[in-house]
Amino acid sequence: MSELTHNDWIDKASKIRFCDRAFIDGKTVPARSGKTFASLNPATGETLAEVASCGEEDIDLAVAAARRSFESGVWSRSSPAHRKEVLLRLASLLRENLHELALLESLDMGKLVKDAATIDVPGSAAIFQWYAEAIDKLYGEVAPMGEGDLVLVRREPLGVVGAVVPWNFPLDMATWKCAPALAAGNSVVLKPAEQSPFSALKLAALAMQAGLPAGVLNVVPGLGETAGQALGRHMDVDCLAFTGSTSVGKLFMQYSGQSNMKQVWLETGGKSPNVVFADCSNLDAVADMAAFGIFFNQGEVCSANSRLLVQRGIKDALLDKLIQRAAATQPGDPLDPASKMGAMVDAGHTANVMRFIEAGKKTARLATGGEQVAVNGRGSFVQPTIFDNVAPEDPLARDEIFGPVLSVIAFDDENEAVRIANDSIYGLAASVWTDSLSRAHRIAGRLRAGTVSVNTVDALSPMTPFGGFKQSGFGRDLSLHSFDKYTALKTTWIKY
Ligand code: NAP
Ligand code: MG
Repeated sequence: MSELTHNDWIDKASKIRFCDRAFIDGKTVPARSGKTFASLNPATGETLAEVASCGEEDIDLAVAAARRSFESGVWSRSSPAHRKEVLLRLASLLRENLHELALLESLDMGKLVKDAATIDVPGSAAIFQWYAEAIDKLYGEVAPMGEGDLVLVRREPLGVVGAVVPWNFPLDMATWKCAPALAAGNSVVLKPAEQSPFSALKLAALAMQAGLPAGVLNVVPGLGETAGQALGRHMDVDCLAFTGSTSVGKLFMQYSGQSNMKQVWLETGGKSPNVVFADCSNLDAVADMAAFGIFFNQGEVCSANSRLLVQRGIKDALLDKLIQRAAATQPGDPLDPASKMGAMVDAGHTANVMRFIEAGKKTARLATGGEQVAVNGRGSFVQPTIFDNVAPEDPLARDEIFGPVLSVIAFDDENEAVRIANDSIYGLAASVWTDSLSRAHRIAGRLRAGTVSVNTVDALSPMTPFGGFKQSGFGRDLSLHSFDKYTALKTTWIKY
């Protein structure tokens, strides 16, 4: 994979060009108002670019372009084989632009460039490829009627899909929405998070290069309360696919009810439990994956395993190992391939995470970490942090912190483990560690979560549905099931 050195990345970063304009109807344009917002590099505090801040007028233009392209049929009624070809080219272009895309992600939101180059960007390409390959293999149905009636049930694209996504995996979250929505024949208006607009803008340019017609994918950078809200309230958007916080997800349901009743699909927050039983033989594997499950991407992961539920007999032994893992995962320059953790997305979010940590120091036992740090004298970084003896009602155990903060809770038996694990408003992911196959199935069946990983954490693939129970949302990204969000069933009844 990417063998670039720290100096190579620094050199590439110094030459990179940021697209700072919206992408509407196949063209890059400034916001009509002329307004911009600053996009910062959280690892240095430097401004990368002033980016077009789209408002209602720009959203209107983008939705109109999307509607025109949809009605023209240039994409929506093109053959699945054609859409496949274009999206496969896009997947190739993503791979060809790997280094630039990885840098855009890292500079914009602080993640390790090495992770972006080995996980985020290849993941995006793989998902475009997967949906490209899927779209000409989806058959419709013929309903079981008697003679004289032929009833066809087909999937049709919905029309204009609005997508509003967060900053933690900017390219991947855009991809999870755009790949199936485009494959199915929709036109899309995508609003990236204000902290991370660049990879989405690059994606739109690459999609055009791959042969996607103008107007089929529009990207409108801007603020949530303006650009996001305008999309959510738009009368000509058919479907709004959202990934982000639970509180903003609830707003989108209101926007829909107050406008045109557009379909709303929500992938929201989590407080995922990682449940470890004393019968699991490989405690080092548990420690490795439990640390990865909370420190990867600075803990800015919706399905982060932020609650570690451990059977009492092995708690101290596991905690010792985890403290060692944390010591080896200190933050560093995101452009240095040797760094183990990057910068938090911005100063505001860092302050939120630190508020949880400071409060936690009074209610639980700080086992390691707990400090904000600078790297090369600047930036917003937080140490990998572990709290022990966390009470199930403590905010450390209930609230989504969205940082590298692990809460350890002991349990005695299966029933108690399941009760604590399910005692959350969220239900996105969960993990179980045990050597007993029966126990694994028993517990997996009882955990209220969209994905239960057994003897690993946070398992996901384009082939498996991803999404939440309870206030983690509804509808599923990834897999063929995500077409349910971007298509409508059409019944055609023929009398003969
Ligand atoms: P967020 O604040 O909810 O923002 C998500 C998106 O919504 C951004 O594009 C944001 O724009 C926009 N937005 C904010 N306020 C809005 C409003 N009033 N009206 C319309 N749109 C608005 O979430 P975040 O802080 O970016 O990301 C962290 C959250 O995402 C966490 O809760 C995490 O769990 C969740 N997440 C979930 C998944 C999943 O698959 N379930 C995956 C990743 C992340 P601005 O950037 O301008 O605020
Ligand atoms: Mg930024």
